[in-house]
Amino acid sequence: MNRKQVSILSTFVNVLLTVSKIGIGLVAKSNSIIASGIDSLSDILSSFLVFLGVKLSEKPPTKKFPYGLYRTETVSSLLVFLMVLISSMTIIYDAIVSLLEKNFDLQVNVLAFGIMAFSSVVCGIMSYLKIKTGKAENSVSLVTDGKHSQIDVFSSIGVLLGIIFARYIPALDSIVALVLGIYIILSLIPLGKEVIEGVLDVADLEVENQIRKICEKQQVNLTEIKSRKVGARIFVELTITLPSEVKVGKADQIISDLQSLIIQKINSVEHVVIQVKGTDERFRMSREGKVQKFFEHGNKIYPSIDIRKKGRRTIYPYREDKQVDDFGAPEYLVEDKLKGKVKLSKKIKNPYYRIGRGHGVRFAKAIGADEVVAGNIGKNAKRALRRRGVRVRGRR
Ligand SMILES: [Zn+2]
Repeated sequence: MNRKQVSILSTFVNVLLTVSKIGIGLVAKSNSIIASGIDSLSDILSSFLVFLGVKLSEKPPTKKFPYGLYRTETVSSLLVFLMVLISSMTIIYDAIVSLLEKNFDLQVNVLAFGIMAFSSVVCGIMSYLKIKTGKAENSVSLVTDGKHSQIDVFSSIGVLLGIIFARYIPALDSIVALVLGIYIILSLIPLGKEVIEGVLDVADLEVENQIRKICEKQQVNLTEIKSRKVGARIFVELTITLPSEVKVGKADQIISDLQSLIIQKINSVEHVVIQVKGTDERFRMSREGKVQKFFEHGNKIYPSIDIRKKGRRTIYPYREDKQVDDFGAPEYLVEDKLKGKVKLSKKIKNPYYRIGRGHGVRFAKAIGADEVVAGNIGKNAKRALRRRGVRVRGRR
C-alpha cells in the first residue's frame, strides 16, 4: 500500500468508528465509548487538515487572492481546535457530573463490547500499516499518525475493560471517560500552538538560516531577513546591498537568480521579495583578473583596504593599544563575526588619520564595516554611516 491508499483507508475506518462509537455510546449511556468516538472524530479532522494543506498548496494564487489561500489552513485548524476542545470539555463535564451524582445507569450490550473490541483491533492494524508505509516512504507525518493509532489501541482496550468491569465498579466508565477527555485536550496542545503561530505570522528561523547560507555561498551581501509562515508555506523578505554603479539590468539578474535559487532549494518557501540598497562601493577588474575594490568619499575614489570579510564586520577605534570613544582614531580593531563566533580579529592602522582630523568614516568605508562601536561620534559621520547601512552603537 502507498501513502495515499493508507490515508484513504484510515479516513474510512475513522468515519466508521466515529459514527458507531457515538451511536452505540449514546444508546448504552456510556461516557467512555462516546469519548472514544470523539477521539476518532478528532483523528478524522486532523488528517483532513493535512490533506487540505497539501491541496491548497497546489492551488496557484488568483487575482483576488494574490498571496494564495494558505491561510485557510489556519482558519480550519482553528475551527477543528475549537470543536475538539468543546467536545472534550463536554466529555469531562459529563464524566464529572456522573461521578458526583453517582449516576451510572450503564446499559452495555453486545454491540458496545463489539465496537470497542473492533476498534482495538482495527487501530492496531492501522498503526502497523501507517508506521510501515511511513517509514518506507520517509513520511514523518504518517509515522506520527501511526504512533497515535497505537495509543488509540490502548485507549480502546481501556474503554473495553472499563465497561466490562463497570459491572463491579460502576464509576469505572466515567473515570475512563475523564482520563480520555484529558488526554484529548493534552493532544490538542500542538495544534493550538500551530494555530496561534499561524495567526500571528511566526518566523521560520530554520529557513532564515538556510537563506543566509545560500546568500553567503552566492556572495550576496544580505543585510536584513524576515520570514513569516502562512499555513504550511513561508513568505520571505530580504534586503541586500549592491554597489550603486551596478546597472538595473544586472541587479535584476542578480535578484531573480537569487529568488529562483531560494525557491528551488527550500521547498516550503512560497514567495521571496528582495529589496536592493545601493552602497557606494566600487569594483574594478585589473588586467590580471584581480578585483580591486574602491570606495567613494567626497567625490573622489580611493582603493579599499583589502581584507576578505569572514562575517559581519565591526570596528572599534583604538589609540595606543587602548579602546577609545572617539570614532576618528589612528587605528581600529577589526572584528568579523559569524554566528556569534569571532572569525577575524586584527588591529589595522587608519591610513587617513591626521593629527587633529579623525577620518573615521573613510576608514569605515575602506574596510567595509557593517557596524561601528564608538561613544563619541559626530552627527555628520553618523548620518554618512547610516546612509550606507552601517550600524552605529555606543561602547558598553
Ligand atoms: Zn485517536
